[in-house]
Amino acid sequence: MSTRYARFWGVRGSCPAPFMTHMQTGGNTSCVEFRDGNHLLICDAGTGIIPLGDALLRQNEIREITLILTHYHWDHIAGLPFFMPAFTPGWKINIFGPGQARTDIEAYLATQMREPFFPVETDAWLSDVEYIDAGRTQLTHGPIHIERFTLRHPSNTYGYRIDMGGKKIIYASDNELPFPSEGIDEKTERLGGSEPSSRETRETDTWRQAMEYMHGADFLIHDAQYTKSDYEKKRGWGHSCYIDTVNMAIDAKVKNLYLFHHDPGYDDGVIDRLHRHSLEIIKERNSGVGCYVSREGGVIEI
Ligand SMILES: [Zn+2]
Ligand SMILES: [Zn+2]
Repeated sequence: MSTRYARFWGVRGSCPAPFMTHMQTGGNTSCVEFRDGNHLLICDAGTGIIPLGDALLRQNEIREITLILTHYHWDHIAGLPFFMPAFTPGWKINIFGPGQARTDIEAYLATQMREPFFPVETDAWLSDVEYIDAGRTQLTHGPIHIERFTLRHPSNTYGYRIDMGGKKIIYASDNELPFPSEGIDEKTERLGGSEPSSRETRETDTWRQAMEYMHGADFLIHDAQYTKSDYEKKRGWGHSCYIDTVNMAIDAKVKNLYLFHHDPGYDDGVIDRLHRHSLEIIKERNSGVGCYVSREGGVIEI
C-alpha cells in the first residue's frame, strides 16, 4: 500500500450499529484517516476513532495528529473520550472545529467528558492538546492542505476540502441536499423564474458555494443516509437521500463518490441495494462517476 491514502474507521451516521447483519459495511460512527507519509489527519471523532487510536499506539512513526471536526453531534465526537493517544504523554493533538473562538471547541468537547456524563475530564489527557483558532478558514498539516466550507445541517457544520498528493478530496459527512428529486438545472431554472424566499436564497447560496467546492473532486465522501421513503419522513433532519447525492455528484462532475454516513437501521442487504441503484442512475445518465460504498476498514489509495 502506498503511504498516501484515506482509511475509513467509522462510516455510520446517527449512532453505532454493532450488529452481525451490518458488519460488511461496519458499525462505528464517522471517522476517516488521511495519511501522507508520516502525516496524519483525522476527520471526525465518532466511535471509529477508538480502534484508530489503539492502532496508533502500536506504531512508532507518528506522534502528532491534526483532528478536524465537522460539528459536535454525538456521532462525530463520541469516540474522543476513548481515544488513547490523548491520554498518552508524548503525543501532540491539534483540534479544529466550528465555533467563534478556540475556547468554544475546547468547551464543546469538555462538556461530554464532565460529570455526570463521564468519569474523567479532559484534564486527564496527558498529551499536548492544542485547539486551533476557530476563525481559520484554511489549515495545513505537513503536506496536507485543508479548507473549510459550510454545509446544510442543523447547527454550524463544516465540510472540508483536503488537498494531498495533487488530489482534491471533499469530506462532507452530514449534508442535506436542498432541493431533492430535481436536477441542478431544473432547480436553478425554478429559482430564477420565481421570487425566492430569503431562507431559500440563503440555502441556495450555501448550496452554490458547497457545489463549487465539490466540483470536479477526485474523491467525494458524502452523506447518503436515507432511502427515498425514509428521506420523506426525515426531511429537514440534515441528511441526504442517496439518489440526490448520486445526482449531485454527476452534476458536479466528481470523479469518485463514496456513499457515507449510512443509516444505522440499514443492514448490508439494504446498503447493497442502494449501491446497485446508484450504479443504475449513473449508467442511465451516461456518467463516468465511480461510486462506492464507504466500508469500515476500506482504503482509498490517493
Ligand atoms: Zn452525523
Ligand atoms: Zn450531525
